[in-house]
Amino acid sequence: MSLTFYNTMTRKKEEFLPLREGEVRMYTCGPTVYDYAHTGNFRSYIFEDLLRRYLKYRGYRVLQVMNITDVDDKTIRDSRKAGISLSQHTEKFTRAFFDDIDILGIERAEHYPRATEHVKEMIDIISGLLEKGYAYKGDDGSVYFRIDKFNNYGRLAHITPDLLQPGATVRTDEYDKESVADFALWKAWDEDDGEVFWESPFGKGRPGWHIECSAMSMKYLGETFDIHTGGVDNIFPHHENEIAQSEAYTGKQFVRYWLHAAHLIVEGQKMSKSLGNFYTLRDLLDKGYSGRQIRYLLMSVHYRQQLNFTFEGLEAAKNGLQRIDDFLARLEDVDFRGEDAAVEEVVGETREAFLSEMDSDLNISGALGKVFDLIHWANQQLDEGAIGVAGASQLRSFLQELDAVLGILPEKVEIDPEVQRLADEREKARKQKNYALADEIREKVRQMGYTLEDTPKGVRIKKVT
Ligand code: AMP
Ligand code: ZN
Repeated sequence: MSLTFYNTMTRKKEEFLPLREGEVRMYTCGPTVYDYAHTGNFRSYIFEDLLRRYLKYRGYRVLQVMNITDVDDKTIRDSRKAGISLSQHTEKFTRAFFDDIDILGIERAEHYPRATEHVKEMIDIISGLLEKGYAYKGDDGSVYFRIDKFNNYGRLAHITPDLLQPGATVRTDEYDKESVADFALWKAWDEDDGEVFWESPFGKGRPGWHIECSAMSMKYLGETFDIHTGGVDNIFPHHENEIAQSEAYTGKQFVRYWLHAAHLIVEGQKMSKSLGNFYTLRDLLDKGYSGRQIRYLLMSVHYRQQLNFTFEGLEAAKNGLQRIDDFLARLEDVDFRGEDAAVEEVVGETREAFLSEMDSDLNISGALGKVFDLIHWANQQLDEGAIGVAGASQLRSFLQELDAVLGILPEKVEIDPEVQRLADEREKARKQKNYALADEIREKVRQMGYTLEDTPKGVRIKKVT
């Protein structure tokens, strides 16, 4: 079986072969920390987390870098609006970003470089591009990339030559294909930048957004690396410009596989801050949904398909998880030894099928379908009493194994040893028919944040969430 990904560069599914055997180097465009991230952003981050987790499950060592864009047009604009320094403003939203990814079960990348801490590396690349003639200083003192000097310009975004406007310049970080022009590598300081500037050989100013990612990716991953990801809105101009700057500078291929997540949409439109149709993670948590449920919803649709965000969808995700939780609870209750139907065989087949779906460009909906088929089958076997303790334990550990990829099972709760001791004491009291004492202990445990449920197998301790 081979792992395949759809490569935006070639518009084809390709077999994935990393540069170094057994290791994957990947770069994921991270948050611009001018505000809280919204559910659309998390769709991209969860796709990247699934990719990372699956590569690890497949046995690769993964070196992942996600940048923090803490200086660009938007961060400067909003910090000035708030009347605080750039770093005070971005620090607040960087912290919020890390809190949010923890709530969503997104694994930490190996590096989170901040743009403001890599300005020297950016200046080095810009100097190199000036030396080689790929860049020039514009009338406004900014440094621009000369797109007609780079022959491959437009390959990723499929830009036709008639759209190119060499010589015309664009200073803003974001623009659409109709205004493709020489873009800013270094922006000369102007009044709108306030106190935000760095000294450089080309004058006082700040880096453009695109050069940030070229500098930070190559610093940590090398001049050529395996995978670069982002949402589809990053393809143009951001990733197109990253390729131009990096390849013009090194003379080498920058990235081998480009993977892009389709957008999360709301009523047919991209969820975005500028359209004002967004929910932050906090908005959804305030409505009573959990990080697990939101993760499950955002993960469960194939990353190259648009995901229409609705609360019915979120309810469906909640029900899907409930089915898994109920199944796990049912397995816990199995208390007899006996024939174990064909658990081992069916688990083996499900693993193969799961791998084969995921190998095909991370077909998560197919892979989850296989897991639900297994649950359906096992529930039937449980109805018939055909699964004993050994089979139940095998099924549980298989789901745990897959959870290294999915990240959706409830966390194992650590039971406070004092609560365990009290539960044992209460059991003793009950056996001695001292129900008053038993109730007293149960109340004490409740105040400690746990419930005690009597089941045929004995007492079950649950943490109140
Ligand atoms: P930003 O903070 O705007 O730079 O975006 C961070 C990441 O979220 C980028 O990879 C974007 O492509 C991605 N993104 C932005 N909006 C959406 C959306 N509605 N759906 C999916 N991904 C998005
Ligand atoms: Zn980027």
